[in-house]
Amino acid sequence: MIYRGLFSGFLESLYLIFDRKKISSAERVFLETYFPYFRRLPAPHKREFVHKLEQVLTLKKFVGRGELRQVTDEMKLLIGATLVMVTFGWKNFRLSYFHTFLIYPDDYYSTINQTYHRGEVNPRHGLIVLSWKSFVCGLTREDDGINLGIHEMAHALKLVHFILESGERGFDPESWRLYCEVRAGEMAKLSAAENSFFRSRAAADEHEFFAVMLENFFERPHEFFLHHEELYLIAFKLMRQDPRVWLVHRVLRG
Ligand SMILES: [Zn+2]
Repeated sequence: MIYRGLFSGFLESLYLIFDRKKISSAERVFLETYFPYFRRLPAPHKREFVHKLEQVLTLKKFVGRGELRQVTDEMKLLIGATLVMVTFGWKNFRLSYFHTFLIYPDDYYSTINQTYHRGEVNPRHGLIVLSWKSFVCGLTREDDGINLGIHEMAHALKLVHFILESGERGFDPESWRLYCEVRAGEMAKLSAAENSFFRSRAAADEHEFFAVMLENFFERPHEFFLHHEELYLIAFKLMRQDPRVWLVHRVLRG
């Protein structure tokens, strides 16, 4: 397993040296316009963001599924930017275990459990699957705490932490232990239909709770902090970033 990790790490380094994707100035303008997190970053962090996004676009595969014949550069930019946003707290963390994005034009039918899906992660094959329509919907409604891209990246992030051969272990163990304690109380509230900041989907299981929590962490950080300060501060330690810094409080904006 270690050998495999070392070998893929070596290949990744070669790609990044000899075949690195470069973000053009037009693509920077596109990100400024359509990716709010990037727009809000100060200049030095924007440079760091672009650097990380170039790595992600160089190393990940983007494959259209269903009726989606072509994955455009704009689609790759927005999906890649979501991965960079979620992992921005780490210096060098790209969810390498998940090497390919499969993108359907709309919600898609899963023959495995015979339901329609908006997205999923497949750790067995290293895939993150997204419905483009739902991804865009999550991005355009930027403050409702529902964002498919963040949701699926969160599932992937949590999984790589526990997959030994992923070679990437992101969470500080003590913060993770604290998180598990506090999560149990919040999930009990959700199950009892008591007032919770999180939508009911978070009650499904621990994976869904984490994904829904991160949707709110990035889209409604001030509200999250006001509702549940302890959990927000643990999430801040786990994720190594505080989105409140970039996002002016809506109350202050009037
Ligand atoms: Zn989920």
